Amino acid sequence: MRVTEFFEKNKNKTFVSFEVLPPLKGGSIKSLYEALDPLMEFKPPFIDVTYHREEFIYHQHPSGYYQKVAIRKRPGTVGICAALMNHYGVEAVPHLICGGFTKEDTENALIELNFLNIKNILALRGDARKFDEKFVPEPGGNEYALDLVKQIASMNQGSYLDSNIEKAEPMDFCIGVAGYPEKHFEAPSLKSDMKYLKKKIDAGADYIVTQMFFNNEKFFSFVEACRKEGINVPIVPGLKPLTKKYQLNSIPRHFYIELPDELVKSIQKAKTEEAVKEIGVEWCIAQSLELKKAGVPCIHFYTMSDSELIKKVCEKVC
Ligand code: FAD
Repeated sequence: MRVTEFFEKNKNKTFVSFEVLPPLKGGSIKSLYEALDPLMEFKPPFIDVTYHREEFIYHQHPSGYYQKVAIRKRPGTVGICAALMNHYGVEAVPHLICGGFTKEDTENALIELNFLNIKNILALRGDARKFDEKFVPEPGGNEYALDLVKQIASMNQGSYLDSNIEKAEPMDFCIGVAGYPEKHFEAPSLKSDMKYLKKKIDAGADYIVTQMFFNNEKFFSFVEACRKEGINVPIVPGLKPLTKKYQLNSIPRHFYIELPDELVKSIQKAKTEEAVKEIGVEWCIAQSLELKKAGVPCIHFYTMSDSELIKKVCEKVC
């Protein structure tokens, strides 16, 4: 079922959904099942699976010189989606990115997803690769998530790149896109970011999932700004409990978001790792309950494949 159909059919309900990462190369899907098994009692309508493009690493040769090598540490997004759908009977949402894909690659990936009966996609641009100064699209690839949304929407109309195909079957993908309550880090302003978000929706995106945030006021202002801009699709807040002291620095650095002073102070005062986790979980529960009260259609948890604390939050929220 399309993600938005779940929302339409359950207007007064707040679902929970989860995002998982494919295991590191060499790992087994068992680790994902172990992470998800304890969360399935909360009946997520869908589970997102992230996509990880190749990274560059430097290999040192015995002679001393370094060779730049491209590796993919977490392949398998599509296979994992098919496995999750089969194993749990749940919708799986693969993340599809622009980076590393020509438009032909994207078309082929969409054909494969359609054959697997995968109905939902989160369409993203992807980040710049390590050692690249900025995001560089593949030659002949999509430059922005907007272009990817357009390509998917076009296939939903039965229009493929290969114009020689006669009677191409239209696809029926429900398209999610990313939104940033605290602005995407490259955007010069929230207003500029909002302008491009609106373009993604106008091009055919059906719903928005947000970057994580720790201050609900930022989310509520974002939703208000979206509605003012004429963006009327469902907006799903993304949350993650803070679990380690070092995340006070790493989360703002990686995700370009601000942590509320009150949360920062409590975590700084915590004496043990357990105390940090407790504070993080309590904060996430309070955020979730407030969002639920505000009537959000779903709360999307970034599990980082660690379900223990997410379960504690869901127990209080579901
Ligand atoms: P876009 O919507 O293309 O926006 C990128 C920037 O360009 C923004 O600053 C925007 O304002 C600007 N912009 C947009 N369109 C235009 C235009 N036409 N002209 C000029 N400027 C424009 N990354 C992964 O690699 N794999 C994942 O699985 C993954 N999952 C994610 C899930 C969520 C919920 C979120 C929030 C992010 C995820 N990311 C993932 C990270 C994401 O790829 C990065 O944040 C990336 O930098 C931006 O992606 P986007 O789709 O928001 O890009």
